[in-house]
Amino acid sequence: MSTRVESSSLLFEECCQGSFEAEQRRLAFIPLLLDSSPGALLPATAIASGSSACGLELELVAKTRIEAFAAVIGCENLLGRRLFATLMIDSQTLMGETLRIRGHWANEDRDDVLAPERLRPRVDPRSLRFVYGLPEDILDRWCDLGVMRRYLVDRVMLCDRCQAIPSWRQGCHVCGSGRITKERLVHHFACSHLDRAIEFETAEGLQCPRCGVSNLVADVDFEAIDGPVNCFDCRATGGKTVMAAMCHGCHRRFGMEDALEHSLNAYHVERLDPLHLFERTGV
Ligand SMILES: [Zn+2]
Ligand SMILES: [Zn+2]
Ligand SMILES: [Zn+2]
Repeated sequence: MSTRVESSSLLFEECCQGSFEAEQRRLAFIPLLLDSSPGALLPATAIASGSSACGLELELVAKTRIEAFAAVIGCENLLGRRLFATLMIDSQTLMGETLRIRGHWANEDRDDVLAPERLRPRVDPRSLRFVYGLPEDILDRWCDLGVMRRYLVDRVMLCDRCQAIPSWRQGCHVCGSGRITKERLVHHFACSHLDRAIEFETAEGLQCPRCGVSNLVADVDFEAIDGPVNCFDCRATGGKTVMAAMCHGCHRRFGMEDALEHSLNAYHVERLDPLHLFERTGV
């Protein structure tokens, strides 16, 4: 994978070197294929006279028209930062071995493959899985080409069977059910008596049923501790509760140790402001 990145990086430099000639700007032109994956990166030249804040006119060496309705346009600024924008192709004119392309900049909400909301993970309400605006393998291909950069936003625990998002509860250590009761116990320090909390309760306050001392004060005279767990589902008694998951995709119950720890990434693109395409320093 690294060699692919390197070669695309070299190609990118060839495309953009010496890019501040008057009235012309060297660009990388990456056709957008039908599935929104990148086509082959081509060197192109932007033509200032045909370009504006709304659109761009450019030329590239080609013997045939390009089968794409849009392309990602890349250029490098003086600091070496690579900036990108999506151009919707309006027309292609073949003049010998030069292909002149006119287009308008993509509307970010409607048809921009680089729009930030397509590049961040969100929960799909139907599948309850994390999804992006594009399939992840296609986003990875844009990363390989150097257009997008992957970065870690979270580490999440998912169902290892279907990758859906589970809910978590302190559940039964046998079956994971949240339908449990936990009885509270009271330990009287003075006489070491340990019993269910309900046995200490009187109208006047807490009183030890063994030694008869009354008005017991928490942490001074007694400690309250978790008693045995009773599960309504599997009838298990005793033991401690465990963190238990219930998958909302396949309804499987599982413990923390069986959860799939998943690195959740987002993708970043340095955006090109078309207004600054022909400025020496503004891009
Ligand atoms: Zn006592
Ligand atoms: Zn149970
Ligand atoms: Zn599942």
